[in-house]
Amino acid sequence: MKIIRTSVELNHWFNEHNIQINKSLGLVPTMGALHQGHASLIENASKECDLVVVSILVNPTQFNAKDDLDAYPRTMAADAEIAKASGCNVIFAPTAEDLYGGKPKAAQINWGSLTHSFEGKCRPGHFDGVIAVVDKLFGVIQPNKAYFGAKDLQQVAVVQKMSQIRHPNIEIVSCDLIRDSKGLALSSRNIRLTNQGIKRALKLSFALSNVVEKTSEGSSLKTAVDTARKELNESEGIDLEYFNGVNCQTFSPEDEPFDWSHIVVAANVDGVRLIDNIEIEVVG
Ligand code: AMP
Repeated sequence: MKIIRTSVELNHWFNEHNIQINKSLGLVPTMGALHQGHASLIENASKECDLVVVSILVNPTQFNAKDDLDAYPRTMAADAEIAKASGCNVIFAPTAEDLYGGKPKAAQINWGSLTHSFEGKCRPGHFDGVIAVVDKLFGVIQPNKAYFGAKDLQQVAVVQKMSQIRHPNIEIVSCDLIRDSKGLALSSRNIRLTNQGIKRALKLSFALSNVVEKTSEGSSLKTAVDTARKELNESEGIDLEYFNGVNCQTFSPEDEPFDWSHIVVAANVDGVRLIDNIEIEVVG
């Protein structure tokens, strides 16, 4: 496995390997601090494509808080081990300046609720940054397929829309959300949680699965969601941003429960921002 740091060097590597001619290429965009959630994306890409590029960039344009950007873990040596073991051929780890061709900046994009509700509302400008960096990566790498995790459910919908408009030949593959043995959604931010923080964070996934369980026992979906939200709001150490049903295509807060496909949650747990979601099995 090779680690490449500039777009120019990456293009040389592509030319050497005749990449655009006779090999399928999978891309897994990441911000590093890789864990088993990322590994599952890389493994999926490696099963379906001849060559796999994992990009690693802590992208400044998608952070709306400088503290969060500064505190984001950077663990290149360990990342290289995980990427290699999962089937990666090339890690592409440019500087933001190299990728953006100057000072990193993102144009404002308004796709209604898709970019402005839930994550878009809580993190203004976040999806502008995501769209900008994924667009750049797709342009430089031109993969056949790009792999994203359903953990960032709204991001998958945003990237799918961007890709339909800007890169219609790239297939977007949504991969399952990976949890630890207790149910906590794996996240690069989890390493900032204390033991107490982990116990508190587990309440998020518990609340999500509880809604699914309650509705399967006959509760109305809306009642189950409202009850779970109230309980989380009353939980010590959890600063809830949202706990809602959504349709994973629209992310419209106006959608009725019968339109919902998932329950999504975002919260600050002991100062660490976490998101999670679950697919609804029973429609209420
Ligand atoms: P990140 O490095 O957090 O930007 O994530 C890079 C990619 O890995 C995104 O497509 C995420 O959705 C995905 N990812 C992160 N955590 C998980 C997880 N627990 N399960 C599945 N995919 C994940």
